[in-house]
Amino acid sequence: MINKQMYNKLNTKQNRRLLLKLYKSANTPAKMLALVLLVAAALVIMLLPNSRQLTGDFEAAFLDVGQGDSILICADDRTVLIDAGGLHGDPTVMAEQVVIPYIKSLGIEKLDLVVNTHPDNDHIGGLFAVLDDLQVDTLAMFDGYEDSRKQQQLLSLAEDENINVRSVAAGDVLEFSDNFKIEVLAPEYGDIFDDDHVNNGSLVLHISYQDFDMLTTGDLQGWEQDAAIRGLDCADIEVLQLPHHGSKNSYDEDWYAEFNPQAVIISCGIDNEYGHPGQNVVKYWQQEQVDIYRTDYQGSCRVIYKDGVLSFETAENAA
Ligand SMILES: [Zn+2]
Repeated sequence: MINKQMYNKLNTKQNRRLLLKLYKSANTPAKMLALVLLVAAALVIMLLPNSRQLTGDFEAAFLDVGQGDSILICADDRTVLIDAGGLHGDPTVMAEQVVIPYIKSLGIEKLDLVVNTHPDNDHIGGLFAVLDDLQVDTLAMFDGYEDSRKQQQLLSLAEDENINVRSVAAGDVLEFSDNFKIEVLAPEYGDIFDDDHVNNGSLVLHISYQDFDMLTTGDLQGWEQDAAIRGLDCADIEVLQLPHHGSKNSYDEDWYAEFNPQAVIISCGIDNEYGHPGQNVVKYWQQEQVDIYRTDYQGSCRVIYKDGVLSFETAENAA
C-alpha cells in the first residue's frame, strides 16, 4: 500500500529527474521495455510493507492493518499469526494487501499456527483470506461465544482447507521448540461470552522465547483483565500489547502498574472512529517513560530479539 509518507519519500525532485533521464536514454523499444520492467520491479520491492529478511532469533511484527490487530511471530523456523485485521465494509482488504504480502515477502510458505483472539471483524475478518491463500497447519480459537456465526464460518473454511482446529483456553501451552512457546492465560474453559462481551473473551497469550516475554491481549476488557494475569509474573513481560487498541475504556492503572515493560504496543488505525488510543492510556505510559509503539503513527512495528538483545524497528525508522 502506498501511504502519503511513502509517496512523498518516492516523489522527490531527484527521483523524478532520474526517471526522466532514464526515459530519454531508453531510445530503443528493447531498452524501453527493460526500463519499464526495472521500474516495476523497484516499485514492487519498495511498496511491499517493509519486506526484508528475518534477522532476529525471534521476531514479532505488529502489522499496520488500519483499525484492527495482526501479529506475525517467527522463531526457530516456526511461524504463528495472531489475527489478520478486518476493516468495516471490506474485511479482507488488509489481509490481502498487507498481511499476506508481508508473510510471502519473508519467504514463509506455511503458517504453523493461526490464532483468532475473538470473532470481532477487526480481528477475524482478514483470516478468511489468510486461510484461503496460505498453507496453514492449525487454527486455534476459544470455544465459548454465544453468537459465533463468524467463528463457525471460519471453522467451516478450515474444514474445507483441511486445516486442523484446536480449541484453546487458559492453561494450554503450545510448544514450538525448546525456546519458543505460547501459554494461553485467558479465557477459562467453560466461560461463556454473550454478544456484548465478546471482547472480554479475547484470548490472552504469554509468548516466550528464551528469556524474552511478551503479552498479547486482543480486545481484553473489564473484569477479565485481572483474571488474565493472575499467576503471571508480570514483571518479566518486556513487551506488552495494550488491550483493546489502547482504548480509554480499557484504562486500568492498577492493572498497568503490575507491569514494568520496556515497551508497550498499540495496534490501531490512524484517525479511527473510536478515538483509540485513549489520552489517559497514552499519558500513563508517557509518565512511566515507557516507549510506546503505535501502528497508526509508526506503521508496522517489529519486535526483534537476537542474542539476548531486544530491539524495535518501525516503518518510520527502517532504513
Ligand atoms: Zn479490536
